[in-house]
Amino acid sequence: MSTVSSYSARPARHRSGPTPQRPAGLPGTGRLWSRALLLVIWAGVPAVLALWWQNTIPGSLRGGGDYVTAAGRLTGLLAAYLLLVLVALMARVPWLENRVGSDVVARYHRALGEYTVALALAHAVLIILGYAWQSGTNPVAETGTVVLHYPDVLLSAFGLALLVLVGVVSARAVRRKLPYETWYHVHLLVYAAIALAFAHEFAVGTDFSASARNRLLWSGAHIAVASAVLVFRVLVPLRRSLRHQVRVARVVAQGPGVVSIYFTGHALDELGAEAGQFLRWRFLARGLWWQSHPYSLSADPELGQWRITVKNLGDSSAALTRLHPGTRVWFEGPYGTFTERRRDQARKVLLIAGGAGITPIRALYESLPGAGTDVILLYRASHPEDLVLYPELEDIARLRGFGLYPVVGPRTGPRGDPLSAARLRHSVPDIEQRDVYLCGPAGMAEAAEAQLRRVGVPRRRIHREAFEF
Ligand SMILES: Cc1cc2nc3c(=O)[nH]c(=O)nc-3n(C[C@H](O)[C@H](O)[C@H](O)COP(=O)(O)OP(=O)(O)OC[C@H]3O[C@@H](n4cnc5c(N)ncnc54)[C@H](O)[C@@H]3O)c2cc1C
Repeated sequence: MSTVSSYSARPARHRSGPTPQRPAGLPGTGRLWSRALLLVIWAGVPAVLALWWQNTIPGSLRGGGDYVTAAGRLTGLLAAYLLLVLVALMARVPWLENRVGSDVVARYHRALGEYTVALALAHAVLIILGYAWQSGTNPVAETGTVVLHYPDVLLSAFGLALLVLVGVVSARAVRRKLPYETWYHVHLLVYAAIALAFAHEFAVGTDFSASARNRLLWSGAHIAVASAVLVFRVLVPLRRSLRHQVRVARVVAQGPGVVSIYFTGHALDELGAEAGQFLRWRFLARGLWWQSHPYSLSADPELGQWRITVKNLGDSSAALTRLHPGTRVWFEGPYGTFTERRRDQARKVLLIAGGAGITPIRALYESLPGAGTDVILLYRASHPEDLVLYPELEDIARLRGFGLYPVVGPRTGPRGDPLSAARLRHSVPDIEQRDVYLCGPAGMAEAAEAQLRRVGVPRRRIHREAFEF
């Protein structure tokens, strides 16, 4: 591993003068797209309810048992629909990753995941209770009958058990205690859960067994989602990794526990990566090939240099410090909406970084158009030695005249939080006129966002990148 920092800021193509225009018709990113996604997800709910409505004969709900069974059918349909949505959200569909944003998609996935497990459990319990009520048997005996004698229900019971397991390991308290890779691999059992549940939906689900058209539509939806997973999670990354032949060029120490990894590759510009985006990297080295981790590009890729900067937080990031030049790299991406196109191009920009959050901010700092105070960077750290990449930032600041302010010290010093509303306004007097890009540890980012709101920056102009999904 080389031990000197060796990245020098280079003048950029569009760095001063008039603001460059994106090609006409290229859609923006952000809240509009998140709302559109929510709308699409919600639109599926009445469609699913319509299935139940259409297959429920008027007047057929006569007693308590019928109502409970109907509730069981409805919860089952909704759980199955949401399971498909959960998988579709994680299919790495480019529109979702690069317009709505991977962090927003992951947030919806997490929230819907909780409802899905609850609905699937409710479905099982309500169906058993409903059948027991209708036939006058006790629920325990009815459970045995339904699970062991109804076609394909035993398989679906295993599917439900897997789903509950995934739900348990995803609960915040449990997830925090598990290594990421364990959580991730257990999570993949959702695919098995869906496969195991599928057969019983057609065999005993009134809404499908009675209608060939519904079976066709339902199968079509499953095939579409499975194809999206295959194409975007497997085939596209495979094709790109083979075509672009990315390799580690060198590993450079940047400070305590922080390294930059430089890459070489074939025709990387074809990938259209933008400053502020991230990729999922899989290093084909011993002990690392079986896992992939997201890291942001820490230099502007449009200047021809692909580089990430990694803070040693756990097993995988620590192992990256020992990578050898020439190591092959497979990747997924580029992904993410933390880019220049998210902002109002007429406005000045404030960048706020903390810790490893400097990586996408560093790339944006280098790539944003303008000069002088058009771009200001506040770089938060507890100690001066934590200001990694600082010499490069100084180079860019010198070259472009951009503002660069290290904000060093404890959060609870005699002068209070260095990112308090009062101090933010003091450092950046026109702060509420700016678009703000914010990336740092969750606690810091949340506190900074609250102070930005206090100082009058509207939420829609605060752009945050989260380093955890
Ligand atoms: C969009 C994005 C961009 C990122 N960019 C950078 C960067 O430029 N530089 C940098 O140092 N770090 C970055 N991170 C964080 C980095 O991905 C994790 O620190 C890294 O994966 C830790 O893995 P580990 O095995 O070393 O540590 P672990 O001890 O396994 O995990 C440490 C933390 O990272 C989370 N994590 C681990 N693996 C993943 C994964 N595959 N996906 C999501 N979260 C994971 C864990 O939940 C835990 O909170 C980024 C994260 C995201 C989501």
